[in-house]
Amino acid sequence: MKNPNTLTVSLVTIGDELLIGQTIDTNSAWMAKELNHIGASVKRRVAIGDNWDDIWNCLQKEGEAADVVLITGGLGPTSDDITKPLLCKFFGGKMTTDKAALENVIDIFTKKLNRPLLDRNLWQADVPDNCTVLQNKRGTAPGMWFEKDNTIYVSMPGVPHEMKGMMQDDVLPILKDRFMLHAIQHRTLLTAGIGESFLAEILVEFEQELPQHIKLAYLPSYGMVRLRLTTSEQNAAQGEIKLEFDKLKKLVGDYLVIDQDLSLQETVSNILKSSKKTLSIAESCTGGYISHLITLIPGSSTFFLGSVVSYSNEMKVEILDVPSEIINQHGAVSLETVAKMAEGIRRKTGSDYALATSGIMGPEGGTEQKTLGHVCVAVSSAQTTTTTTFDFRFDRKRNIELTAVHALNFLRKNIG
Ligand code: AMP
Ligand code: MG
Repeated sequence: MKNPNTLTVSLVTIGDELLIGQTIDTNSAWMAKELNHIGASVKRRVAIGDNWDDIWNCLQKEGEAADVVLITGGLGPTSDDITKPLLCKFFGGKMTTDKAALENVIDIFTKKLNRPLLDRNLWQADVPDNCTVLQNKRGTAPGMWFEKDNTIYVSMPGVPHEMKGMMQDDVLPILKDRFMLHAIQHRTLLTAGIGESFLAEILVEFEQELPQHIKLAYLPSYGMVRLRLTTSEQNAAQGEIKLEFDKLKKLVGDYLVIDQDLSLQETVSNILKSSKKTLSIAESCTGGYISHLITLIPGSSTFFLGSVVSYSNEMKVEILDVPSEIINQHGAVSLETVAKMAEGIRRKTGSDYALATSGIMGPEGGTEQKTLGHVCVAVSSAQTTTTTTFDFRFDRKRNIELTAVHALNFLRKNIG
């Protein structure tokens, strides 16, 4: 090993589409996160096109710099994908057909896709004879594991779920085992309602007194900030990180959403599940986005009854029984209207709680009284209906996303 105490990794993502902005390189972000979890240290991420010389030079350079080079992309059946013949030449091997990979290709085409099998599909099962084949349980292109001059190179498919499967099934467990890595320890909490600069002010002293080997990270996104404590030290640090985490929780106080690495929607979902309460939603300005976030959570059917996207005034009146006088008098974006929307959907579905949103997402539609980004939110329960307003100042998409986050947080506060 180049350095016996660490495992250094270079990530190489291959594909012209990555360089013209058509595909966002999510593969290396995901791999970096997983590698970090097992205690490996990612030193570089390089994206290159489907170009022979560029790939060749890159492999040479990264191989000199890192213990492990993880490669994705360029393994498809079309002529633009050149990673495999290049690897064969780079490592001085000869192409041979891998029996298990061939069976897999035939199986996928005859049983799953029910499509004629072309020669170019069969070539997917050809691999250099000097690699260890990583079978692809989710697609046709096998992965390839090479070792040369004390460096490991692993080539995986570019399709994200195929790469993830191969990493989880094979690559990560093998690296963990072989290098006896010590997992990095993280403790994460989620805050809402306070910006990162204000949080940093609260935490000045805490940060100063934090032991050297424990690091604090601020991870802001959509009106919330995640705080993460990290240490790579073993055993003794476990008690220490817990102690520091408890201090952090106290300092964060009422801004704390959850003391785990969970999203806001997962937190809301857990509260509803454990209290056996149900939820329905009436969405105007968010157009179903909140319902989408909720239904992304496995098992949401146990508490989420459904939603109505009541975008027009007529829908609000006819489906949700919002009195038309309320809309005429106060407007569609008003506390009075969202309150009636929430009460209406709760009555219709019989849910324990209901959430409703109505707002002006832009870029047009603002008035002097109700400016662009003005949002009204209501939460209704059998006991009461609570309302609030928010004012955002971004573009339409971001306003919608922020509305969803703040509405969910308002819901959380009213069901906790
Ligand atoms: P390939 O293995 O080059 O045929 O890639 C197959 C597909 O995977 C491409 O069409 C992309 O949509 C996707 N893909 C490739 N590389 C990446 C990457 N680094 N991040 C996310 N998606 C990718
Ligand atoms: Mg490609």
